[in-house]
Amino acid sequence: MACKHKEMMKIKDVEPGTKGCEECLKSGDDWVHLRICLTCGHVGCCDSSKNKHATKHFEETGHPIVQSFEPGEGWKYCYIDDEYVDLE
Ligand SMILES: [Zn+2]
Ligand SMILES: [Zn+2]
Ligand SMILES: [Zn+2]
Repeated sequence: MACKHKEMMKIKDVEPGTKGCEECLKSGDDWVHLRICLTCGHVGCCDSSKNKHATKHFEETGHPIVQSFEPGEGWKYCYIDDEYVDLE
């Protein structure tokens, strides 16, 4: 099934709001990997990190698509579809 949220949410090139996980930077916590929200530019930590802020950001805001914020990685993922997304 193709992801329909990329049109609905006006996914675009976003400027990252922070260089690391926004919430972890505030609380002084560590993270494993970073994800960036393609709706608003929020940077959050992945599900391998103890705080899982990227997923919490989706649950709180409904912003569905994140992209890897790791160097050399460009994959995108839709939480609602639970699958990787191709943005052409
Ligand atoms: Zn989707
Ligand atoms: Zn975090
Ligand atoms: Zn967002």
